[in-house]
Amino acid sequence: NQQILLANRPTGTPTKQTFKFVESDVKQPEQGEILVRSLYVSVDPYMRGRMVDAPSYVAPYELNEVITGGVVAEVVESQSDKFTKGDVVIGSYGWQTHYTAKETEIRKIDKEIAPLSTHLGILGMTGLTAYFGLLEIGKPQEGETVVISGAAGAVGSAVGQIARIKGARVVGIAGSDEKVQYLKEELGFDEAINYKTTTNMVDALAAACPNGVDVYFDNVGGEISDAVHTQLNRFARIPICGAISSYNLKGEDVGPRIQTTLVKKSALMQGFTLGNYAERFPEGSAALAQWLTEGKLSYQETIKEGFENIPDTFLDLFKGTNIGKLLVKVADV
Ligand code: NDP
Repeated sequence: NQQILLANRPTGTPTKQTFKFVESDVKQPEQGEILVRSLYVSVDPYMRGRMVDAPSYVAPYELNEVITGGVVAEVVESQSDKFTKGDVVIGSYGWQTHYTAKETEIRKIDKEIAPLSTHLGILGMTGLTAYFGLLEIGKPQEGETVVISGAAGAVGSAVGQIARIKGARVVGIAGSDEKVQYLKEELGFDEAINYKTTTNMVDALAAACPNGVDVYFDNVGGEISDAVHTQLNRFARIPICGAISSYNLKGEDVGPRIQTTLVKKSALMQGFTLGNYAERFPEGSAALAQWLTEGKLSYQETIKEGFENIPDTFLDLFKGTNIGKLLVKVADV
């Protein structure tokens, strides 16, 4: 069994030295346990937060322990009557090629409904984050303008499409011309802005949002968000999903204070974590699956191959090389 451990706690951007590869024996499953073989391993921005020893909504990773996170896997051997060899399952046991799971730690997934990888993306964690964050906090209404940062990523690309399904006008912010083209031509965004080549984001947003901004779904924080806040309408809603622009900063982020903006605009800003909606996951998954089947929702994935490439692929999240969900395929089905 190959495993990737957290070797030390990074300050600033993690490097290869942050991680350590080790080999370990695979434990034979006992009664109520299942041995699984990893197929797709997820890399996610929130993992950066767990590398720091600070209180958060999930516990920090322990040093010299496996980096945990979502995995789609195949059952190799089962000592549980709930699973049989060949079943495909999802678990959170993280960056390792094999795992002996308790039957309560994994869940069977439907092999027929969509490609297996989608259970880590559009039909899984990132799709559900988009669904609940946008609909429960953003509450987009027909004809309103929804702006999304990190728009071409896993969460952002789903947010924009769901906002369009709800009849909103959608403007995305992303980091390359290829992403801008993808958002406008393939996902049907009304406008998209490349923040890396735009010299004045306030002007660009004002031009892209002639009726102002009613919902700002924030994935990145920092200067991009400062610019969007200048365009808020009265009673705007701002779901704070993440702040990836600050995850690798060595100190606290600093920037304009927006309390007076929120007062002037009677705007609502609310952070959330997907776990807040755990009881409603079946509803969210069913809605996402239905939109996929109806062709109202599409998705892209950036899939790297090879277990040894997991750390580099994780670091790619901060370089912005991915369109849609970033994953590593570690074995064939
Ligand atoms: P993405 O697929 O969006 O990948 C990350 C993207 O972030 C990159 O492709 C890059 O795109 C962009 N990015 C990286 N660094 C910066 C930067 N310095 N400034 C601006 N953009 C940057 O990841 P996810 O969709 O998985 O996650 C998106 C956000 O949602 C993250 O903040 C994550 O932490 C958060 N999240 C929150 C959850 C919750 O429960 N609240 C659950 C899941 C995710 P580009 O080329 O455009 O720069």
